[in-house]
Amino acid sequence: MEHPENNAEYTGLQVNSGVSSQPIINPYRRPRAKRPSLTAADYVDGIVKGNVSVLGQAVTLVESTVEQHQKLAQEVIEKCLPYSGNSRRIGITGVPGAGKSTSIDVFGLHVLRDGGKLAVLAIDPSSERTNGSILGDKTRMEKLSQHPSAFIRPSPSAGSLGGVARKTRETIVLCEAAGYNNIFVETVGVGQSETAVHSMVDFFLLIQLAGTGDELQGIKRGIMEMADGIAINKADGDNIERANLAAAQFRNALHLFPPTPSKWRPEVVTYSGYFELNVDKVWDMIDRYFEYVKKTGYFEQKRNEQAKYWMMETIHEQLLNDFYNRPEIKALLEQKELRVLNNEQSSFTAAHDVLDRYYRLLRGE
Ligand code: GDP
Repeated sequence: MEHPENNAEYTGLQVNSGVSSQPIINPYRRPRAKRPSLTAADYVDGIVKGNVSVLGQAVTLVESTVEQHQKLAQEVIEKCLPYSGNSRRIGITGVPGAGKSTSIDVFGLHVLRDGGKLAVLAIDPSSERTNGSILGDKTRMEKLSQHPSAFIRPSPSAGSLGGVARKTRETIVLCEAAGYNNIFVETVGVGQSETAVHSMVDFFLLIQLAGTGDELQGIKRGIMEMADGIAINKADGDNIERANLAAAQFRNALHLFPPTPSKWRPEVVTYSGYFELNVDKVWDMIDRYFEYVKKTGYFEQKRNEQAKYWMMETIHEQLLNDFYNRPEIKALLEQKELRVLNNEQSSFTAAHDVLDRYYRLLRGE
């Protein structure tokens, strides 16, 4: 018997003969229409009209590592440049837990009170899109993410800091062309990325905490020197007094720093992002800064310097890539490294030989 269960002794259990399985692929399915690929002019047109979906696609293009996408992205950026620049670019940094996302949510609503649009971008070279702690992630800014005038974009996924930062800077251009007149660039205040953010924003805000005993809280002195303003968060409840004490300490510490190139004296304020206390004090400071630098001309000067900086950065990056990605150079470097380590050749002549090989390669020899 094929199926013992079909024996009359078994009651209530029957195995029926099966039917042949259905094909997995539906043979009657109509082929899906492919989304027409946009030209550079389509992208620019959509962006300038403030079309958020086109803007999002353009940012994805900027972030892509595919060479063809990069070429198109550069064309789009170049065409958007004439429409860009008309914004306040504000960098926001602080150690994890300082309250950046809570504050950005509140700051965002504050700047949008008078209309306008806000883009929140991030630089976090260590982040992977999957690990959930992504800066600029929508879920971290609940109120803002539902606001129709806010565009929130997480950090470009992990890569070299230079690469991630460049993409964020290019995204600023696209957002400005789309009419975003407030740009926040968020970063974690623990490493190198501050320098990159500092080189693309007009105002750099450092969010600090009070009451941990350690005044600088792992924030490097260099980061404090870059700050145009320090905002001590969580000044609520029992913490107010400690926040005021910390503010006094920070003011003292700032006195010891050399004057900033803008001659603006960085200020220290206390506020509570969570309880929305004194948020206007933070923004009074930022508004005053913009008024000041626009009057002195430092605003323009800094933007020009930043444009030069990014041109040089791009040149450096491309030169390095071109040099290190050549197989001949890679092989020669390995050989030379061994020779140098074995004391068979000096570091200097080894470097000279490798560069010499590179120049000959460039000449096609
Ligand atoms: P981030 O890592 O810098 O983005 O910090 P979050 O915004 O995620 O905040 C870290 C924690 O601090 C969260 O549990 C917040 O609820 C809390 N927090 C943020 N701002 C304040 C504040 O103004 N007062 C108090 N008491 N807690 C806050």
